[in-house]
Amino acid sequence: MTTTDSHPSSDFIRDIIAEDLRINKNEGRVVTRFPPEPNGYLHIGHAKSICLNFGIAAENKGGVCHLRFDDTDPGKEDIEYIESIKRDVKWLGFDWGKHLYYASDYFDQLYEYAVQLIKKGRAYVCSLSPEEVKEYRGTLTEPGKDSPYRSRPVEENLDLFARMRAGEFGDGTHILRAKIDMASPNLNMRDPAIYRIKRMPHHRTGDKWCIYPMYDYTHCLSDSIEGITHSICTLEFEDHRPLYDWVLDQLDVECHPQQIEFARLNLSYTIMSKRKLMKLVESGAVTGWDDPRMPTISGLRRRGYTPKSIRDFCERIGVAKRDSTVDVALLEHCVRQDLNQKALRVMGVLRPLKVVIENYQENQMEELEAVNNPEDAGMGCRKVPFSRVLYIEQEDFREDPPKKYFRLAPGREVRLRYAYYIKCVGVKKDERTGEIIELRCTFDPETRGGGAPDGRKVKATLHWVSAAHSLDAEVRLYDHLFLKANPDEVKDGTDFRANLNPNSLETLTSCRVEPSLANATPGSRYQFERQGYFCVDTQDSSDESLVFNRTVTLRDPWAKIEKAMKNKPR
Ligand code: ATP
Ligand code: MG
Repeated sequence: MTTTDSHPSSDFIRDIIAEDLRINKNEGRVVTRFPPEPNGYLHIGHAKSICLNFGIAAENKGGVCHLRFDDTDPGKEDIEYIESIKRDVKWLGFDWGKHLYYASDYFDQLYEYAVQLIKKGRAYVCSLSPEEVKEYRGTLTEPGKDSPYRSRPVEENLDLFARMRAGEFGDGTHILRAKIDMASPNLNMRDPAIYRIKRMPHHRTGDKWCIYPMYDYTHCLSDSIEGITHSICTLEFEDHRPLYDWVLDQLDVECHPQQIEFARLNLSYTIMSKRKLMKLVESGAVTGWDDPRMPTISGLRRRGYTPKSIRDFCERIGVAKRDSTVDVALLEHCVRQDLNQKALRVMGVLRPLKVVIENYQENQMEELEAVNNPEDAGMGCRKVPFSRVLYIEQEDFREDPPKKYFRLAPGREVRLRYAYYIKCVGVKKDERTGEIIELRCTFDPETRGGGAPDGRKVKATLHWVSAAHSLDAEVRLYDHLFLKANPDEVKDGTDFRANLNPNSLETLTSCRVEPSLANATPGSRYQFERQGYFCVDTQDSSDESLVFNRTVTLRDPWAKIEKAMKNKPR
């Protein structure tokens, strides 16, 4: 029911499931779930969890993966997030089929379970203030103290809980707590809250409830209600597992899923917390959840990432039990690999420098054949117009070329991709500023297509466009959103935003692209030869004004050489 590109190698979770199948645990069923809280957009970390849960279901015969919204906190949740999450999961290539669920659909059942816990003497209404609850909880080194309300009689608890539900009390005046062990070394077991009063409408249940169940209580029961076999979550829930099991054990439910924890994805130069990503959105540090610099699925999509590249990435990073940080360069590598196979090659000049071919006739134009993708002959060829006035990249010319600079320079000959050899015979400058405004060149008609009959070689091939035929475009170049590999590393008194990269976006407005891009539709992806992979922006691009996002660069050996030269002591 889902898409996987190849069989992922095994990992400790897949091993557990294989063993469970072998001993026919759960009657051979494999039911997993992806349980987002709809309080933000999904990020690349969630993609890891999605690929794992949906992937495991797909690999096992009859396997199913549920999409369940863990929507127990109406204060932070919204329909907008629900819609975005559904869209992102689908876009990644996964299908929950009919298995779309909401924890809020279980509110009645969860309430009944809570009543059962009270009747069994395993839950009580506590009327301490939130500050007192905290104080009584103790610390990692000191045990907690019993709440004075811990011994409330069952009848009184039932009555108070019913009145909490009926809306008789204000927020924070009472909570329902599990009665476990205030001296437990595990803080999660020190009589955790399982219901709180929140007099606020819910995006799905409206005004029906003014008490809402807490995450730990809701999650295990939702898993159980749905018949989940393997409840896979991130490591920070390891200490919650005793509570997960405790709730299910008290209630004597039919299905008791196995919680298995794995290491969450951390990426260098990237923040991976919805709360922090929300801060970036709300403070205007980015243009929205889908800003192409965001590590959200919607940001990556708008940036030009493909679903396959993200699935490949998730497969390559694997699933482990120990936390680590993955180099963001690996993610970039994955999209480069996929786009190398898929993207049409085109020519686009980002910072144009005018070139006049002196021996090419004015008003003449010819169409030269260009290969769409050297990796895939099936993608065919296209025509690119050549004429007397062209644009090349400013950085492809140096009046005074340093050693190892092989591109155009006065008196030097280079190849124009799919066209001719040209030679620079003159440089025109602005009289006032000294800025180079035009190169005068000649072309060799014998070199049409890019080779010389006399066998003479050139050391560089440049991309170019015909001035009169090319189209105007805006191009957005992106760098890491943060300057530090670990953006959370900050000086006292600042937060992660102190590490924002002020140059994470560079907008170029007078780029020129080849005319075949006139029909480029939003979201389509290209390789601009020598410049990287680009995607037509889905928000801001239109027929009148093309806007491209650079997804990722191609490797640039020159940048490395230049850097090495710069760093060399004189
Ligand atoms: P965040 O910490 O970004 O706010 P969250 O864990 O609160 O994320 P949920 O909506 O609760 O977000 O997450 C849904 C699922 O995605 C959970 O099972 C969670 O464990 C998983 N998940 C979240 N972040 C990561 C991550 N970085 N790597 C792997 N899985 C993740
Ligand atoms: Mg969460």
